[in-house]
Amino acid sequence: MKFLIIAIDGPSGVGKSTLSSLLADKLGGLYVDTGAMFRCLAWRWQQLDCPEDDDELRNLGLQTRIKMASNQIWCNSTEVTELIRSEQVSALSSQISKFPVIRDIMKQKQRELVEDVRNSGSFSGAILEGRDIGTVIFPNADIKFFVDADPEIRAQRRFDQLRQKGEEVEFDIILQALKERDAKDRNRSVAPLVPADDAILVDTSKMGEQQVLNTMLQHIEKIK
Ligand code: C5P
Repeated sequence: MKFLIIAIDGPSGVGKSTLSSLLADKLGGLYVDTGAMFRCLAWRWQQLDCPEDDDELRNLGLQTRIKMASNQIWCNSTEVTELIRSEQVSALSSQISKFPVIRDIMKQKQRELVEDVRNSGSFSGAILEGRDIGTVIFPNADIKFFVDADPEIRAQRRFDQLRQKGEEVEFDIILQALKERDAKDRNRSVAPLVPADDAILVDTSKMGEQQVLNTMLQHIEKIK
């Protein structure tokens, strides 16, 4: 059976993580959350006082071992599953992700990860979600989705998630932070957030999760 590479790109808060993990379950593929990888780097970058020098960034990138398994994320020897979800790490991840040296290392790590998975023979494919999967990491992916939704709706989802976790947050601040992060991701010079020419556009603003999932599965069925 063909090993499928499925690229899912889009801004934050569109439901990419949930959709990717549901697709991975349905298809027997490995779910790769590349945002979590950038978040791990950002978390360590913060501890080093955010150096911007190329050599220091390279060392940081090369010396950060990221492991994702059983719904847990490990960064070197620390379990960071929740730590990397703070608003502060969100903001830092969109800052560190603009450095070409960091993007190069991440590209290599993501491609190696998928190659290992392919060689292991244990999965039917890899479902990668991020910002540049279909444009830069796997321009030849078997299928590409670009998932989007109105900023207000995305901010409301993020707000609800944080409130559920018991965090005291204000909607306007969340919306503002989301718009700033979007602008950074869309306008950076290296690997900006843009749909690949051959990506299937999915707007989740007015669609329920199941409806979006079914739409994506129908597209995937056609290329299997
Ligand atoms: O997807 P998530 O919101 O967890 O990603 C955090 C940040 O990491 C994004 O705002 C973006 O700046 C960066 N990122 C990226 N490329 C990816 C995944 C995430 O630049 N493939």
